[in-house]
Amino acid sequence: PTSIATLLAAGERSFSFEFFPPKDAAGEEVLWRSLGELESLKPTFVSVTYGAGGSTRDRTIEITGRIARETTMTPMAHLTCVGHTVDELGDILDSLSAAGVRNVLALRGDPPGGPGTEWIRTDGGVDYAADLVSLVRARDEFSIGVAVFPEGHRDSTSLDADVAVMKAKHDAGAEFGVTEMVLRASDYFGLVERCRAAGVDMPIIPGIMPILAIGSMKKMVELSGREMPDEVLARIEPLAEDPEAVRAEGIRIATELCDDLLAGGAPGLHFYTLNRSKATREIYAALAVNA
Ligand code: FAD
Repeated sequence: PTSIATLLAAGERSFSFEFFPPKDAAGEEVLWRSLGELESLKPTFVSVTYGAGGSTRDRTIEITGRIARETTMTPMAHLTCVGHTVDELGDILDSLSAAGVRNVLALRGDPPGGPGTEWIRTDGGVDYAADLVSLVRARDEFSIGVAVFPEGHRDSTSLDADVAVMKAKHDAGAEFGVTEMVLRASDYFGLVERCRAAGVDMPIIPGIMPILAIGSMKKMVELSGREMPDEVLARIEPLAEDPEAVRAEGIRIATELCDDLLAGGAPGLHFYTLNRSKATREIYAALAVNA
């Protein structure tokens, strides 16, 4: 099994794609078709999210294990502290290891009541992502990534407090970061600068999600406690009556963002695919570095 930290350290531009465990057989088919279609782009890694609770949680192990066994791609499993004791987290790491998965994105997860509600630690569990990083690091068999927030985490008191959290994850053994969906390139560059100033030198990969429809994107941005940038709205809202034009402009905006991020030194791009491949393939093909 390949370590993502090693791949990133090799200095090649990283492309990665994120998926979620589907709820039914139809969703399963869509997922595996998309994975197949994106495999030819030779991603550095592909990641599978961990459910906020409920039935899909075991599926993260199953799907990442199958990616490891049946494809040429390197999988990363997301894992959260929500609802788990330390012992359970250890069991999950055992299962991942047995399935041939050696990369973990160590997260706290959102509060059980949803983003923005009060965080309640599970009895016998841990409070913060940095604690989970320590647990994973102690086993010495996983490459560890963590979540990073270009505009600060929604519950964070300040950007400085946010960097202190990054530093704690770094010191606990995190080796790379993946950001929440970047809305402006300048937010990402500001984040990297703050991290470097604090001695956090790990690669930080910007997260990319194109606008494919106005409503769903606004909802997603709102959930993260942010607002759509005016300059993006100015390009998208005049097209509101024409969903295809919205999608085309959304792809153009995302492609420009990706070009700016790479030109400014981002080590790669992490695409939130929502289990579809088309938008990602369109952006990938249009990137200046692939022209
Ligand atoms: P932490 O780093 O623990 O931070 C959580 C909050 O606690 C922040 O407000 C932070 O400022 C604060 N904090 C941290 N340490 C301290 C401390 N020592 N003292 C005081 N305050 C502190 N969620 C899922 O459920 N499943 C997924 O698969 C998933 N994948 C994600 C992938 C990416 C790339 C990103 C960016 C997010 C993902 N999330 C996922 C969402 C994530 O779980 C939430 O955003 C969560 O609220 C924060 O997780 P974290 O790992 O950053 O937590």
